[in-house]
Amino acid sequence: LFAGEADFIWAANSLKNLPPMTKVEIAFAGRSNVGKSSLVNALTGRNTLARTSHTPGRTQQLNFFNIGDRLHLVDMPGYGYAAVDKQKVHAWTQLIHDYLRGRASLARVYVLIDARHGIKPVDEGVLETLGTAAVSYQIVLTKADELKKGELEKRIATTMEQISKRAAAYPEVLPTSSRTGLGIPELRAGIARLLSE
Ligand code: GDP
Repeated sequence: LFAGEADFIWAANSLKNLPPMTKVEIAFAGRSNVGKSSLVNALTGRNTLARTSHTPGRTQQLNFFNIGDRLHLVDMPGYGYAAVDKQKVHAWTQLIHDYLRGRASLARVYVLIDARHGIKPVDEGVLETLGTAAVSYQIVLTKADELKKGELEKRIATTMEQISKRAAAYPEVLPTSSRTGLGIPELRAGIARLLSE
């Protein structure tokens, strides 16, 4: 799946210009600086892909990539960078609400959480939004290389406990690192399974 072509195909900043639902979609969401670009690059084996999403003007858009002509990967705008960012959080929330509503092709959202920090209130808000829209999602811990083994195990356990009452959450929390490659094969396998369902 990830061995073939991977190309940027579409950018959308409102409900009116979403691409047609021709493929299964998976989306990646997370706070700014969580390591989303690095993870998308590690996943697809392309260094240029998610750089596109950091291009000024594209950071507040939904960026669509075509993966091997079988899947659309959606890079969602990062949220909650600073306390002054309330306006952006609002714009982001509006955009994902719009996107999620009636997006039948969306199979799963991967919500990225920095393994060092765990789920923050701003993330809770996003999980709430996803739950309300009944979109299934999985928590992916990023930068797992920054923690000692015991700390990481504790982080995984507390995160699983935090999401245990959220019906839309996939019960498994996946630790990853773009630096070491930890969790990347598991993430790819999970995505491939979604396609075969
Ligand atoms: P984005 O804003 O969510 O797209 O985050 P980036 O992918 O641009 O990464 C933000 C920062 O985190 C950069 O300084 C990266 O070098 C760093 N980073 C990304 N992934 C990892 C990782 O797996 N481990 C560590 N230690 N740092 C990472």
